[in-house]
Amino acid sequence: MANAGFDADVLVIGGGPGGSTTAWDLARSGVDVLLLDGADFPRVKLCAGWITPQILDALELDPQDYPNTFSAFTSVILWVGNRPCRTDYVRPISYGIIRAEFDHFLLERAREAGARFVNEDVKEVATDDGGCTVTTRGGSTYRAPLAIGAGGSKDPIRRKLVEHRSEERMVVTLESETRVGADTIRAHTPYYEVPELFLEPDFRGYAWYFTKGDFLNIGIGRLGDPRIRDAHPRFLEQLRDLGRLSPDLEAQLTKFKGHPYKIYDHVPVQAHGERFLLVGDAAGLARHYSGEGIRPAVESARDAAAVARNALDPGEAIGQTLTEYGSRLTERYGPQQAPVFDPTAWLPERWQSRLVEWVCRSNRLRRDWVFGRVFLFDPEAAAS
Ligand SMILES: Cc1cc2nc3c(=O)[nH]c(=O)nc-3n(C[C@H](O)[C@H](O)[C@H](O)COP(=O)(O)OP(=O)(O)OC[C@H]3O[C@@H](n4cnc5c(N)ncnc54)[C@H](O)[C@@H]3O)c2cc1C
Repeated sequence: MANAGFDADVLVIGGGPGGSTTAWDLARSGVDVLLLDGADFPRVKLCAGWITPQILDALELDPQDYPNTFSAFTSVILWVGNRPCRTDYVRPISYGIIRAEFDHFLLERAREAGARFVNEDVKEVATDDGGCTVTTRGGSTYRAPLAIGAGGSKDPIRRKLVEHRSEERMVVTLESETRVGADTIRAHTPYYEVPELFLEPDFRGYAWYFTKGDFLNIGIGRLGDPRIRDAHPRFLEQLRDLGRLSPDLEAQLTKFKGHPYKIYDHVPVQAHGERFLLVGDAAGLARHYSGEGIRPAVESARDAAAVARNALDPGEAIGQTLTEYGSRLTERYGPQQAPVFDPTAWLPERWQSRLVEWVCRSNRLRRDWVFGRVFLFDPEAAAS
């Protein structure tokens, strides 16, 4: 039960993986949480839905207890130009989920743990010495000693209370996900439930053709680059040439939509203030090269919940305790001041591309570096 004058101990804005995980973690330890999201769940979230075992660990989730679409991947294909380079593993090193199902499951889990859900969009946020107040589009007002911003790249706390840096670079994406049926998918690819990644010719992004149960997910992402509008039709042409997209299948696809989000690079986002913490995309935590954002969202959610619990301790000064969150993020993801490490930076541009191509085509280096360190961040996967 929240203290007098407050509607909850903690307000969580956004019910994606970051917000639901924070709410679940806090609520199950007895913290009174109010979670606000304007979307009607299950809601569509643009995402390839590629997740790693570390996400399940952070969520304390056994796949046996997950009732929805869940594909275990033991192989990955990386297309370098016209050549498919396949890497096989002895155990599943990643999984495919459908975000609408996954996010709804996590939200319900938070509610079962005791978090109260308010289906309203937050319009305004304000902090003062005593706490944080949010006002919804419907005109309701909620107040708590502490708020967690988990509203993704449009998070209202990030927009209102955090200084925007003009140098921020975003991943720009275009994606379509459609339930077309497993038989239809099998008729179009020899690699059913083997994720296919297609490196962009300049290596500044990649496209994907993901098959998960009955779902086909096709998309492309590039770092801070409007040329995605040219890259996208080129990629679709490649899929048609490969037989992955027949006219019938193409006619069934949901419309391609775009969504930009920030990656964790040398332009830091202020992830905490006197009365708030930001998690996931709101804090710009997605991985630099891969654009993986679900793992940072749930990991930062667990960190935020731990720090929030300490901050709510009556003996502690809230603002001071929240600074610990910054240290935890730095410990996990490294300092943000330095430019992202680019091992090819010392080479002239045309040699950089050749080196990347050579690395991606080498079985050993692709397993150790490209998947082990860039896409999966899992040294064990590199070894298996
Ligand atoms: C095309 C594409 C493909 C991707 N593929 C992958 C992938 O395969 N694997 C991976 O790990 N990552 C992927 N990502 C990144 C990943 O989707 C995000 O990093 C992740 O969703 C971040 O989670 P989050 O909880 O921080 O935010 P979100 O998932 O964006 O959730 C934010 C929630 O906040 C709510 N909200 C927003 N504003 C308000 C408001 N004002 N009031 C109330 N509620 C609000 C929204 O409705 C939403 O439910 C992809 C991203 C894109 C765009």
